[in-house]
Amino acid sequence: MVVDEECGHGTFGGRAVKWRNHMLMSGSIAVLCGFSPLAVAYCAGASALPDQLETIGPIRIIPHRTITHELGLWLAGIALGAWFPFLEHLPPLLAATLSGMGFRSWMLFLPGVLHLAGDALTPGGVRVFGRKLALGLFRTGEPVEYVVAFVFAVAAGIDIYFIVPDVLDRVSMIKAKFFGSFQ
Ligand SMILES: [Zn+2]
Repeated sequence: MVVDEECGHGTFGGRAVKWRNHMLMSGSIAVLCGFSPLAVAYCAGASALPDQLETIGPIRIIPHRTITHELGLWLAGIALGAWFPFLEHLPPLLAATLSGMGFRSWMLFLPGVLHLAGDALTPGGVRVFGRKLALGLFRTGEPVEYVVAFVFAVAAGIDIYFIVPDVLDRVSMIKAKFFGSFQ
């Protein structure tokens, strides 16, 4: 039986299971990078973006692991967001809230890079400036993938344990910033 490496589980439910590992890995890496809770939630929540952009509902519009899995494009997005902080041009309250919660324009493209970091470990690999990069450590859905995701989650858990007091500090600082003037 020939099994499509990525869609090996066959169903949308199966893909959701596979995406859970992307979510765990991306969220964990964001935690380890010391990002704010909002940025971590975004990195985890949008971690399947490169796969999701390939389809509209059940219809595939872009061949699998082609343009949406080109690392250069996601890096270009990050560079663009760092160079031109377009989120600052949102309505002032929204822009201030996002920036107060530690979210930056370049972070919009970060889930793509984190997703590709996970896919690069599989035989299907990703594209890096047109060339295929596939480390082939495990196939999508194999037990090793769960182990890798779990290791990242444990590392992030340990990290959170040590940074929670710092985060609480930051939350009270943000609260004071927003509500201080009303007291
Ligand atoms: Zn993918």
